[in-house]
Amino acid sequence: MNSNADADAVKPTVACLVVAAGRGLRAGGGLPKQFRPIGGIPMLKRTLLSLTAIDSIDRILPVIGENDLMTYEGCIGPVPGVDAPVFGGATRQDSVRNGLEALAMGDNPPDLVLIHDGARPFAPAALVNRVVAALINGAEAVIPVIPVTDTVKRIAPDGVSILETVDRAMLRRVQTPQGFRFTTLIDAHRAAAGADLTDDAAVMEKAGIGIAAVDGDADNTKLTTAQDFEDAERRMSHGLTIRTGMGFDVHRFEPGDAVTLCGVRIPHSAGLAGHSDADVGLHALTDAILGSIAAGDIGDHFPPSDPAWKGAPSDRFLRHAAELVAARGGIIDHVDVTLICERPKIGPHKQVMKATIAAILQIDPDRVSVKATTTEKLGFTGRGEGIAAQAVATVRV
Ligand code: MG
Repeated sequence: MNSNADADAVKPTVACLVVAAGRGLRAGGGLPKQFRPIGGIPMLKRTLLSLTAIDSIDRILPVIGENDLMTYEGCIGPVPGVDAPVFGGATRQDSVRNGLEALAMGDNPPDLVLIHDGARPFAPAALVNRVVAALINGAEAVIPVIPVTDTVKRIAPDGVSILETVDRAMLRRVQTPQGFRFTTLIDAHRAAAGADLTDDAAVMEKAGIGIAAVDGDADNTKLTTAQDFEDAERRMSHGLTIRTGMGFDVHRFEPGDAVTLCGVRIPHSAGLAGHSDADVGLHALTDAILGSIAAGDIGDHFPPSDPAWKGAPSDRFLRHAAELVAARGGIIDHVDVTLICERPKIGPHKQVMKATIAAILQIDPDRVSVKATTTEKLGFTGRGEGIAAQAVATVRV
């Protein structure tokens, strides 16, 4: 057997636990911060999507709060390459232990495990690979660290009096993912149950296990406050290119009593014919977003010949297009839809349509425009044979 075959035979499996069970309300907005959008996509989803693109990770398991399952399913839903979430506990340490126990219960517990904060959506692949490589080279526990550049003072309990200047050359800030041999970490967690330790390296320290440091990455910031989210969004948009896409769609009327336009069901003297829910507005908008990233059209992604999309609500088409933008690290800046028909009257429904589209795309309603026009009774829309829609999307990628 040659040495390459040996190396293949022992390639360890790597699982990544993504810890997102905290309440994290400091970022504002009422939602736990992991579900707050950055550039239109919830932070936790960005974190998960970026990890799915890293080859050294074999399995990704999110750990969420027990009360957050509905929010997770609504905001994030199934992500290809990511396991269904497990529930965390009262503290971060409990949450990690629950995740580790879930991995241990499966048929193939991993050889190595990474523990990553759901609030660090920008961990570069090179950083993750450094952590994994250090474990493969024999370390039991590995943490990414970055130097402290500010001068650091020790302060008295009164919060005002400075006691001394600390030698910053001996200090490091600690990031995640932290990497461990799986059996070593789960044993240390079981032994440390009940002690409130702030990171997994501390659990290993308590167990007396040596920890190696690798270089962290300044971009791998943890987002906590509303300001952090604003900074992240500004940083993401830096260096991005503006792109515009347009979409157009038509559906003809058929007997019925309601139409669905821009996600809103409107009672009408006819329905719209179509394989899905025939939402001409959302179809045009989906094509506009797909066009902006040159990702084909709605029929390429959801073939009308596929029975899976029969009667399907069109919000899933639109959400899919938005996720493709997010998967490229893009941001949806603005969308503009024009509905073209004589009837039904669109005006009374415009605000709800705006809010509906904003919720599907997870962007601010002031980035969504819905307009309507007639064609002065000319042409097929003028004769009331169907409804047309145009849309334009502006994205940065
Ligand atoms: Mg259509």
